[in-house]
Amino acid sequence: MTARVLVVDDLEPNVKLLEAKLRAEYFDVLGAYSGQEAVHKAASEQPDIILLDVMMPGMDGFEACRRIKADPETTHIPIVMVTALDQQADRVAGLEAGADDFLTKPVEDLALFARVRSLTRLKMMTDELRARHATGKGLGVVSNIEVDLDSIEHRIFVIDDNEEQIERLQKALDDTFNVAHETEPEIALGRARSGDFDLIVVNMSLEAMDPLRLCSSIRSFEETRLTPILAVVRQGDTRKLVRALDIGVNDYLTRPVDKNELAARVATQLRRKHYVDQLRSSFQASLEMAVTDQLTGLYNRRYLASHLTAMFDRAYWTGRPLAVMILDIDHFKKINDSHGHDVGDKVIQEFAERMSRSVRGIDLACRYGGEEFLIAMPDTDANFAAVVAERLRHEIANAKFVVNGARDELEVTTSIGIASTENGPEEDTAQKLIKRADEALYEAKTAGRNKVINRAA
Ligand code: GH3
Ligand code: MG
Ligand code: MG
Repeated sequence: MTARVLVVDDLEPNVKLLEAKLRAEYFDVLGAYSGQEAVHKAASEQPDIILLDVMMPGMDGFEACRRIKADPETTHIPIVMVTALDQQADRVAGLEAGADDFLTKPVEDLALFARVRSLTRLKMMTDELRARHATGKGLGVVSNIEVDLDSIEHRIFVIDDNEEQIERLQKALDDTFNVAHETEPEIALGRARSGDFDLIVVNMSLEAMDPLRLCSSIRSFEETRLTPILAVVRQGDTRKLVRALDIGVNDYLTRPVDKNELAARVATQLRRKHYVDQLRSSFQASLEMAVTDQLTGLYNRRYLASHLTAMFDRAYWTGRPLAVMILDIDHFKKINDSHGHDVGDKVIQEFAERMSRSVRGIDLACRYGGEEFLIAMPDTDANFAAVVAERLRHEIANAKFVVNGARDELEVTTSIGIASTENGPEEDTAQKLIKRADEALYEAKTAGRNKVINRAA
């Protein structure tokens, strides 16, 4: 896996040193020599990760970090702060500025590569979701993502066999979060899967089970595949930490756990999780919106265009008939003209509901145009389609439409045209099938409306 790394330091030799290390591991490296330049290059170059020096003249690393994280175009880029001093207060300040992790100078190779690998892996996943989200935004079907952590209740699961440490963690987190804990690793795995937690904290010194195995199990279960894991490691246990990060642990703390650092790291993980959750659900929503008609909830014409061909081919290969009916509300313009467009909309909705109630699960019902609908029915011959159409025509005509805001109950009727593949031409296609149904509909209109015409008969 290769990635573009932006290395920021006011001293050129420091940039060159990190650059050489990363190049040797086949990373693509860019340099910047001030906070200002870092903010600028983050936006213009869109690196996969930023290694950011803290102490720089002018804009320091904290400020640069804050600005990069505040810009929607760069907020998703992971930032590792590189500090000369390993001060707890500095770490907390960095985390509060939005940093994802820290490295202390002189930078240790193993720790460097592990962080870069794990953070870029995470970013690749987010990038794909971001791209889909951007498409959805371009289509106007999804809005901006905002993560307001305070408005959400978070559930944190602590897996730890050290009672004292559990107590310490709980004390630090209990005020803000809903915390559950488990000392038995096997039981913990089951609870993690069923608990719908937002974050799992694992003590990497567990005795009853190899904690690395525990973490990799959490990563492999469908239910917890994406749940962030925060590892608690012994100071100086770099090897275990590196392996943990490679397995997919998202972040770590060293013991004894500092309360402020814990709070800051937990907040970072939760913020990222909710960002990704929202990207994911907005993508789902945009998918649904792309194929759904907003007024009726039926499939739209775009979906029909792609799906009907598949239904048609299937009918062809299986030798089973496919019927299509097109329905058009009679004199709909009059409803609009005398009751207004909103009442017209309500009639369309009610019409769609009655229609949906009358079709089977395997039928494809869609809004074909303004007050025109199409139903494709697999495994259905023209005669049976005519029975369904006749029943539908009654459903519409026999019970008046009681529409909110309309003074009167409205009498609505519909004309229906039917065609099927049974007696189609030699070289039949889905388009030709629709055309025949459309011609039948036209006949129904000219024959006086409120009628079903079966083109195949
Ligand atoms: P016919 O019996 O021949 O079908 O007559 P009609 O008046 O129903 O047919 P026409 O196609 O002339 O008019 C359809 C009208 O439907 C025109 C259009 O303004 C209206 N319409 C289309 N889409 C919508 C919609 O989403 N909401 C509302 N309220 N009206 C719509
Ligand atoms: Mg009409
Ligand atoms: Mg029409």
